[in-house]
Amino acid sequence: MDPFERIWDRPRLRVGIMGGTFDPIHIGHLVTADEALHQFGLDDILFMPTGTGPHKQPQVTSAELRYLMVSVAIASHPRFWVSRYEIDRPGIDYTADTLAGLRGVMRDDAELFFITGADAVLDILKWKEPERLLSLCTLIAATRPGYDLGRLSSVLSGLTHLDRVVVMEIPGLAVSSSMIRQRVAAGKGCRYLVLEGVRQLIEKSGVYCDPSPAAP
Ligand code: ATP
Ligand code: MG
Repeated sequence: MDPFERIWDRPRLRVGIMGGTFDPIHIGHLVTADEALHQFGLDDILFMPTGTGPHKQPQVTSAELRYLMVSVAIASHPRFWVSRYEIDRPGIDYTADTLAGLRGVMRDDAELFFITGADAVLDILKWKEPERLLSLCTLIAATRPGYDLGRLSSVLSGLTHLDRVVVMEIPGLAVSSSMIRQRVAAGKGCRYLVLEGVRQLIEKSGVYCDPSPAAP
């Protein structure tokens, strides 16, 4: 059972879902989630590491190690949770299917917010069933250095649920998981770019030392 399940039954729950490969989870993810919590008055954030992601196979690190790194990174935050939903589900994970699955176990008065960075939201038309996705949640698009949300309205122009996409300004952090993998492979380390427990797990497991499996 996900620990998060114990709050499913709360009335009028406003929950943010932060999806990602988290290979590894870094401060950009954490700042984005925390900003969403405050800016949108959310009750909780559920981190949802991908299992067999549609875009990144087969290069990603094992789901178990990614899940462990997320668990360590969020442990001290009272309103951050992690879910095994996509990891434990066989097959490919599509966000709309995940949100529909979550809706199935939540109360009808719960509100879902799916949190993405600017890069991901600009690719929305490549997602499976974007209209269905927007019928299931509000999509929060966080600013991210290097990605221009100025073209978001033209990207969204064909969709009917335009009002379900909202932009969130956050303190810009030009950090990415690929950059961290490259730094670790090059022996530069990742202190302060990830939480200390995650850095220790990276060091202890030796993940990313060989650049071939997880290179971008
Ligand atoms: P990779 O380099 O492997 O693609 P990543 O840093 O982009 O990794 P993901 O796991 O792909 O991390 O991203 C999960 C979500 O977090 C995506 O919606 C992504 O846009 C967002 N995100 C990641 N890093 C940042 C950041 N620095 N600022 C804002 N959003 C971010
Ligand atoms: Mg990414």
